[in-house]
Amino acid sequence: MNKPLGCLFIISAPSGAGKTSLVKALLESNLNLNLSISHTTRMPRSGEIDGRDYHFISIETFKQMICNNQFLESAEVYGNFYGTSRHWIDAAIASGKDILLEIDCQGAKQIKKIFSESIGIFILPPSIDALAARLKTRAQDDPDIIQKRLAAAREEVSHIVEFDYIIVNNQFNDALNELICVVHAEHLKKQRQLIKHQSLISQLS
Ligand code: 5GP
Repeated sequence: MNKPLGCLFIISAPSGAGKTSLVKALLESNLNLNLSISHTTRMPRSGEIDGRDYHFISIETFKQMICNNQFLESAEVYGNFYGTSRHWIDAAIASGKDILLEIDCQGAKQIKKIFSESIGIFILPPSIDALAARLKTRAQDDPDIIQKRLAAAREEVSHIVEFDYIIVNNQFNDALNELICVVHAEHLKKQRQLIKHQSLISQLS
């Protein structure tokens, strides 16, 4: 597979760290990032729309898609299955777009193996208490699922060293600005700038 010309950003976080809201705001920041819409066997939460938040599919369909090699990565998270469309990513990479994946650590690891240049960003909540409070406030999941997610947060954080950037989501706007800084910094990396400004550099050298 060709090396991506655009950036491939992966954002992971323990559930309740505020990742989805940050990603939404990041997408609205006119940075021209393209979000990969995952497939999941989880039931839609209230307000979620099929095709916008996820492609909601049955376990049978998910298994069939695995058999057909339609996922670039897939993982079981909190008892549900999630997967990233291989076709969508291939097409986005071929057109040189910047891509954003909002996936868990297992998926991030699989993507890093395929695309070593991908940029991993880990979002931390400011404290374990804040995380528990956010999960309860959201209250869209059963209490036993909330407990499961709190326990899983520790396991998720144990993978933090596999990421390139760490952002603490204490103040939403600060965390968003830090995310935007990461995107800008990656755009300015030497290997991308050398290609983008090839003719300028050759004129000047
Ligand atoms: P939620 O059900 O709360 O939307 O997501 C649960 C977890 O699954 C989150 O950590 C989310 O980032 C992760 N997730 C969402 N889509 C994918 C995917 O396509 N692949 C993987 N590996 N994880 C995903």
